[in-house]
Amino acid sequence: MYLSEWRKRKGDIGGIRMRALRRRLQLIFQDPYESLNPKQSVYEIVSEPLLVNRVTQSPEETTSAVLSALRDAGLRPAEEFVFRFPHELSGGQRQRVSIAAALVLEPDFIVADEPVSMLDVSIRTGILQLMMDLRKSRGLTYLFITHDLGLAWIIADRIAVMYLGKIVEIGTAEQVIRQPQHPYTRALISVVPSPDPRKRVERVIVKGERPDAANIPAGCRSHPRCPMAFEACGWDAEEVAEELQVLQAAGRLPDVGMIMAQGERAIEILPAPGKSPTDARSALEAVLAEERNARLALKAIQGVRVRDDRIILMLHAGSAPRLTRLAPEHSVACHLITPPSTASVAVTA
Ligand code: SF4
Repeated sequence: MYLSEWRKRKGDIGGIRMRALRRRLQLIFQDPYESLNPKQSVYEIVSEPLLVNRVTQSPEETTSAVLSALRDAGLRPAEEFVFRFPHELSGGQRQRVSIAAALVLEPDFIVADEPVSMLDVSIRTGILQLMMDLRKSRGLTYLFITHDLGLAWIIADRIAVMYLGKIVEIGTAEQVIRQPQHPYTRALISVVPSPDPRKRVERVIVKGERPDAANIPAGCRSHPRCPMAFEACGWDAEEVAEELQVLQAAGRLPDVGMIMAQGERAIEILPAPGKSPTDARSALEAVLAEERNARLALKAIQGVRVRDDRIILMLHAGSAPRLTRLAPEHSVACHLITPPSTASVAVTA
């Protein structure tokens, strides 16, 4: 958002403009135990951005800016901290030094990468409160990265839920938390603990391992774990063949022999020895009808037919869903979402 606004106002970004932009954008890292250089004093850490960007004109000006940033980050009296090294600070104080180093260039926008996840619960609130106070007093915008949806709900104006590097739902905090539309957002919200023990919420557990980010699933990247996945979500022949092999290993397909994926959208199956393709097909269809709601990959099977001495399964074509705008500021990427121009906004399956 910030970059696109900048582009609109200033044209393309490059060279000197990019350098100027970097001063307005700063980072707070997740791990204050790793992100601070143990050989540098607090003064060196916080003054470094000033010196690299040639912001201050004299040592006095640098010292004044460092002390001011430390005070704003809640390290008081600031003079007591400047000559300390990271190993002489607590986790919370280290993260305050990181915040001071980010603040010293007076940025407009800070990317905070899980800034409290490595800290003790007892000091998280203090750091979060500090960040919220700074947001108000300095007019800052944060891009706050977190796995804690409850925390996002408390601090964010807008929330973008990401899965495997793609935004699957984005909207105001109210829209995303109170009216979640994407199955993954719904699952995340269902497992946020409630302070009211009488409140019963049906928990949706996203099963299975998260896929390898270097080998993103085709179609909707959520489909291998999505509890609502259906035929359009992008199952390929390998995935469906694997599911059939699991059934076969469990003894559910005694009439079926070898199962082989053929390209992206076809599976070839040989009947078991002594079985006719027609009998094997009937037995297979009966098991598919029983299992397709429990084993969602089987929903991708569009048709079963016999060709020569074997059975051929054809799969539905799948595709990746696009972010669809449901309301001003609220967009969702899921095939189950009906855009508001054609129907009311709802997950329909
Ligand atoms: S498109 Fe929607 S229903 Fe299909 S897998 Fe993705 S999130 Fe689930």
